[in-house]
Amino acid sequence: MRNILPYKLENTESTCEFLKKVVEVLLDFVRATNNRNEKILDFHHPEEMQKLLDLEVPQQGLSLQQLINDCATTLKYQVKTGHPRFFNQLSCGLDIISMAGEWLTATANTNMFTYEIAPVFILMENVVMTHMREIIGANWKKGDSILAPGGSISNLYAFLAARHKMFPNYKEKGIATIQGQLVMFTSDQSHYSVKSCASVCGLGTDNCLMVPSDIYGRMIPSELERLILERRTRGHIPFFVCCTSGTTVIGAFDPINEIADICEKYGMWLHVDAAWGGGLLLSKKYRHPRLSGVERADSVTWNPHKLMGALLQCSTIHFKEDGLLMSCNQMSADYLFMQDKLYDIQYDTGDKVIQCGRHNDIFKLWLQWRAKLHKLIKPPSIYNRRTHKRSDVKGVTD
Ligand SMILES: *Cc1c(COP(=O)(O)O)cnc(C)c1O
Repeated sequence: MRNILPYKLENTESTCEFLKKVVEVLLDFVRATNNRNEKILDFHHPEEMQKLLDLEVPQQGLSLQQLINDCATTLKYQVKTGHPRFFNQLSCGLDIISMAGEWLTATANTNMFTYEIAPVFILMENVVMTHMREIIGANWKKGDSILAPGGSISNLYAFLAARHKMFPNYKEKGIATIQGQLVMFTSDQSHYSVKSCASVCGLGTDNCLMVPSDIYGRMIPSELERLILERRTRGHIPFFVCCTSGTTVIGAFDPINEIADICEKYGMWLHVDAAWGGGLLLSKKYRHPRLSGVERADSVTWNPHKLMGALLQCSTIHFKEDGLLMSCNQMSADYLFMQDKLYDIQYDTGDKVIQCGRHNDIFKLWLQWRAKLHKLIKPPSIYNRRTHKRSDVKGVTD
């Protein structure tokens, strides 16, 4: 591959030619994706598919033309997840602006750990995260947020921050600082990643209680309280409740206000997993009563790659309290996060996460959002905060 960049500047033209051909292949896929008469998938069983494809990593480099053919073959057998008839996953559709953003992201090829390596993207992240927090609630503006590799990891960040808030010494001293069994609660319809937190973080899945839900798939608050009391009488420490806003399978919304009352009563952290339903925060018609009370939570998971149609992956976790993420996860590696840089190091967001390198998931969301007409939605006063019932049905123009 000596006839493309970065080998010799004269190779600029052949490089552009190669890339334009690749883009042509991509555009063919975009066209096919948007054509209702196209099949969503040309399905073959794995053994058969292996015969149709040449997947070997060869001894000798192949020609540029062969690589273009490889790109075309790859997309030929790929599922068209943006096809109008594709409904297999909660992340579907192919938003063209978001895709254009992803192309730029790939070209910029940067890491998100420090301001110096991604100045524009870091500032964008700051603006968009603040904006999302303001949509969650007016009292969230001063909070903190981070993009994570998926809703499951976002939920894990909520768990970690909650434990850190309650047991700040855990970070240094470990499990011995907690005198008793930590217990967490989530509905029996919640995403399995919540249970996974219990396993990953040393509680054990038996200490992630699955609260029964009603026939609509919503957590039953009285059952939550019953289970909390049951564990308290055993000397356990109930500390975390996950309330699902948009359950993965049937799209149910747990009653946030009633659950928030219970969390306040027993001094527990309230996390709202709105990975799937978070997009409704933007909807005048559907936000209430489904997400009423979300501003009372301590943390919220919201995946723009689901209902908002951003390209994979794009997941966000938001905290009402600023500083927790950093104090919980910061390791201050001195080769990367020096404290004496020439700029304001609060923009070195990378030390808030348990990863080192972080993929740029913000640009595609920022660009996509810039293209949309968008008004901030104020919670209408016609809903009773506790009963979620409308007190003035006449005035509603949904
Ligand atoms: C999809 C989903 C998740 C997990 O998100 P990933 O990005 O797939 O990790 C978590 N919670 C709910 C409610 C979801 O629907």
